[in-house]
Amino acid sequence: MKERERYRIKDLLGAEAIVGSDVVVKGWVRTKRGNKNIAFLAVNDGSVIHSLQIVVDAVKLDKELKQITTGSCIAVAGKLVKSDGQGQNVEVQAASIVLYGAADPGSYPLQKKGHTLEFLREIAHLRPRTNTFGAVFRIRHAMAFAIHKYFNDHGFFYLHTPIITGSDAEGAGAMFHVTAFELDRIPLNAAGKPDYTQDFFGRSANLTVSGQLEGELGAMALGKIYTFGPTFRAENSNTPRHLSEFWMIEPEMAFYEIADNMDTAEDFLKYLIRYALENCSSDLEFLADMYDKELIERLKSITENDFVRLAYTEGIKILEQSGQPFEFPVGWGVDLQSEHERYLVEKHFKRPVILTDYPREIKAFYMKQNDDGKTVRAMDVLFPKIGEIIGGSQREDDYDKLKTRMKELNLSEKDMWWYLETRKFGTAPHSGFGLGFERLLLFVTGMANIRDVIPFPRTPKNAEF
Ligand code: ATP
Ligand code: MN
Repeated sequence: MKERERYRIKDLLGAEAIVGSDVVVKGWVRTKRGNKNIAFLAVNDGSVIHSLQIVVDAVKLDKELKQITTGSCIAVAGKLVKSDGQGQNVEVQAASIVLYGAADPGSYPLQKKGHTLEFLREIAHLRPRTNTFGAVFRIRHAMAFAIHKYFNDHGFFYLHTPIITGSDAEGAGAMFHVTAFELDRIPLNAAGKPDYTQDFFGRSANLTVSGQLEGELGAMALGKIYTFGPTFRAENSNTPRHLSEFWMIEPEMAFYEIADNMDTAEDFLKYLIRYALENCSSDLEFLADMYDKELIERLKSITENDFVRLAYTEGIKILEQSGQPFEFPVGWGVDLQSEHERYLVEKHFKRPVILTDYPREIKAFYMKQNDDGKTVRAMDVLFPKIGEIIGGSQREDDYDKLKTRMKELNLSEKDMWWYLETRKFGTAPHSGFGLGFERLLLFVTGMANIRDVIPFPRTPKNAEF
């Protein structure tokens, strides 16, 4: 059966206009039921959450039917007809069936519905065939597309920043080393340390934790850029919100000050959520029904309300006066934990909060220093259920201030000379932020664990698939 004659099930459901036509569909059998005269197969091809009902003459296609079980892959040619069945307006009456691949009922793990998400994580190679992961990965695709569309429509250029980086001063977290040394025969220098001059790149290299520093170089030439790629953090943080490999979206804009940066972050997030509501409704409805009854209301409320904009110092006052028994104590100077962030968002304001002007000691070296000598022009966007979804700032554009700050933090000017040169030659105010793609997906899908919104999660002690 020719692939070019195949219909995607998404296009057939609701296609009353072509009822009566001969069609070909291909996909994986979700269920098989019936009696000795007639069988009903629910076939899913991944194009949409719904399966298509195939009606089979159990006498005529007896031989084929015998081999078909849950999980088998088949191709069906037949007539599209109106259906009286519940929840579907069309079905296919099979004229012929080709079995591409059987799935032994004794060992195929997805026989029944209702597996736990924990179990499905152990079969990451098969879980895309469940309704839940089909929905999540279609939404993941739609969000990736919407991100590119938003930036393209707003005059941003997609800049590919390196995954292997020679700078270990990005400051966003612990890094994975990249080396071509044989680990049991590492050449040592006079000090007894690995002699990286003999390594592949002639220097020590790491997987990137952020494309920002290189992104800034692009913004200082192209105006507005964004990166969208994998980032890596070798931190042993086993939480439902942290991955060791995650995707990050990092726009960087010349001439933007912090207020422009906040406007962009808010507009961007609202656009993405609106896009999901408009383009992923059947998947969202399924996930809402299965996991999170308030999902769609929560998404809508984001698009309908202005985000609160609040200085860190004010946020701390609210937390101190809240009377909440926080696990981690609050006070000016502490880095907020997600319990604090969620209190502000979920209990106090009941909408997203953009917290600004954090103490310089808890933020990265590149953030623009305020005149008070204590705070920097940072902005974190805090979301319900998630806490920090975006971290960003206006960047320090003053050469001397940046250099002094790097010295204070013992960051090597020798390694970062190229970054400093953007401030030496034609510096300008500029800003940017990083959105964790999987944090966004947690929010949009309503899933509770970040391992369930990426096809193959990398977390401490887990990289099998
Ligand atoms: P957190 O405090 O939540 O660990 P962070 O402050 O270390 O995050 P940034 O370096 O500011 O994170 O990264 C920018 C964005 O990337 C965050 O706002 C978040 O959305 C996302 N992010 C950061 N670390 C991770 C991770 N380990 N897994 C998934 N997403 C992450
Ligand atoms: Mn952050």
